[in-house]
Amino acid sequence: MLPHSGNIVSYRLLIRKDPITGQSVVISSSLSEKMDLFIRKTDWKLVESLMYSSAKKCPFCIKNLTLEAPKFPRNLGIPEPLSKGEAIVIPNLYPQWEHHAVVILTKDHFILPNQITGQHLRDGLVCSLKYFKSIHQNFPESYFASINLNYLHPAGATLPHPHLQLLVSSIPTNHQKLLLKREIKFSEKYRKRIWEELVFEEQKRNQRYLGNSSGVHWILPYSPLGDYEIRAIFPTSNFLDLKEEEIETFCYIVSNIISKYQKLGISSFNFSLIGYLCTKFEKSSNITFSIVPRQNIYENYRNDINFLGFLQNTRFLIYSPEDYFCIFQTIFES
Ligand SMILES: [Zn+2]
Repeated sequence: MLPHSGNIVSYRLLIRKDPITGQSVVISSSLSEKMDLFIRKTDWKLVESLMYSSAKKCPFCIKNLTLEAPKFPRNLGIPEPLSKGEAIVIPNLYPQWEHHAVVILTKDHFILPNQITGQHLRDGLVCSLKYFKSIHQNFPESYFASINLNYLHPAGATLPHPHLQLLVSSIPTNHQKLLLKREIKFSEKYRKRIWEELVFEEQKRNQRYLGNSSGVHWILPYSPLGDYEIRAIFPTSNFLDLKEEEIETFCYIVSNIISKYQKLGISSFNFSLIGYLCTKFEKSSNITFSIVPRQNIYENYRNDINFLGFLQNTRFLIYSPEDYFCIFQTIFES
């Protein structure tokens, strides 16, 4: 409670701990009326101008790609070109990981969130899995893998042209290392997978469980990393085991979520699909997916991760997942 102009004003802060990672978030729904201080509506005209101004020299646009695209070393046995539909995989010119490739998702440079279709994503994922297969054949010890997206600048994208980032390595990212540690500890103690137990609990409580589609469970996390985060849990831990039906349905749901984000005025987001290229963790782990909006684009937008999130690894949110359950439940009703 705080004194304010002679009156006492009280704020309700909810502190939640993620049941898998143990990390805390702070949720202050009292501040939803002061939303403008933290997140303003997207300036779509500014989004358009960012897209147009970057198009001329975009290395992912087809006219520049033929001249400038880097090639994979031939001894990796990666098909050349590695492509399907509009999607094409190229090595990352500025790698940030042991094996780091980029999937250009669309021919067009100017793509708004609701123009990223299930087919774009499906073709991108099919290519990603072929890339994973080639890397796995050449580097069997590199079995930590992920498929990632930064959409627009607040999410960390250097270019607005939609593209996936593929990471493969013999060491996990810090987040995957933490997940694996918790997954193994749980399976050794209870002889089952922690994600399956979480799904079971969420189904029982029916406050955040969205649905099951082709064996993939969709939930709102109890303790999200950002407002409107959605997660999915696959039945396997091994990317190389994914079936076409699972990929197809998954991608159409992701495109529906992204369209819904745009309807909510959200213009920037990240996603990560994290798993393995082996069967070593089949008893403990699952492929998991998370999609999280980032700050909207408007003039002089503030970053949504301040000292609390960046240096102290504690996210600050306005909405609890139960507040936005109804918005996303509709995707799974049809
Ligand atoms: Zn482009």
